[in-house]
Amino acid sequence: MVTPQTNITLEEAARLLPAFHSYAICGHVNPDGDCIGSQLALAHALRLMGKEVVCLLAAPDSVPHNLGFLPGVQDLVAGESCDFVPECFVGVDVPTAERLGGAKQVLDKTQVSFTIDHHASESTYAKHVYVDPSSPSASMLVWKLIELMGAQNADSALCAMTGLITDTGRFANQNTTSESLRVAADLMDQGANPSAISREIFQSRRLASLKLEGVMLAHMNIEEDGAFAWSYLTNEDFVSCDAVKADSEPLVGTLRSIEGVRVALILKENDEGTVRGSLRAKDDTNVALVAESYGGGGHKAAAGFTFEGSLDDALAQVPARVREFCFGKEA
Ligand code: 5GP
Ligand code: MN
Repeated sequence: MVTPQTNITLEEAARLLPAFHSYAICGHVNPDGDCIGSQLALAHALRLMGKEVVCLLAAPDSVPHNLGFLPGVQDLVAGESCDFVPECFVGVDVPTAERLGGAKQVLDKTQVSFTIDHHASESTYAKHVYVDPSSPSASMLVWKLIELMGAQNADSALCAMTGLITDTGRFANQNTTSESLRVAADLMDQGANPSAISREIFQSRRLASLKLEGVMLAHMNIEEDGAFAWSYLTNEDFVSCDAVKADSEPLVGTLRSIEGVRVALILKENDEGTVRGSLRAKDDTNVALVAESYGGGGHKAAAGFTFEGSLDDALAQVPARVREFCFGKEA
């Protein structure tokens, strides 16, 4: 199931993509396991084919520490200060030019561009587009592409499995498909060990992240007869816990894990006077609608946005909008 913007098949992508010598591969700002995993999986495959590849970060210094085990992660460079001009630009797990952050300047200098993604969006930035929102991870699409190019190896399998494990929540989220489990079996046969990956991703939390979770729980509100859990973190909370933004990634999942909760929201104050919002649903509720109403996006059950305003304004507006959009309450 591909989006209307899609103008190539994966088979065509596998034919067209190897025609170049040099590539930049970019993901989205606030990168996660699927984003970095998809980038590195494709980089390993193209390098195996003898290509020159640079992997770009949409925002500098943004790799979460628990992704540090991925082979090739140390070679990621900040897109905003990268003066490499590749023949071909590939965006993976990133739907819009805005989400390319500072790496857009590399895209602007490149003749040919591809996007391989699983986020539905209204617009695109690439010449060759393949977007399949029914795919649980971008890395699963990247892996299919790698197979079609005949460029699999253990490193690319490890990176692709990492994307699949993180975006499916260890094969527990609603987006888990029987195909994703078959692909996971193939990846395991190629040398990707799901238990080793899970240990790195889920059992390597920094103490600061748990301290932050304590503060987040102290701020928590439960409404709508226990179905809506929301909380917030101030800049001061991050400082007092000695935490970085990535330490707050698992916390919206903690809210969603509460019995009876159907929708979880967390609002995090940014340094720039804006607020990051993260939304999760446990049932069929489409939280992406709330994120889109603030210019963000994502998937039905996991979406995010940047609120342009103070934390006080966000606290006054966003939970009310969730009550309106997800629980049918009057605005
Ligand atoms: P998270 O809450 O983990 O930041 O994001 C959840 C999902 O929503 C991810 O798939 C992420 O790519 C997407 N997402 C988060 N923030 C934004 C945003 O500002 N714009 C768009 N288009 N997608 C977002
Ligand atoms: Mn993804």
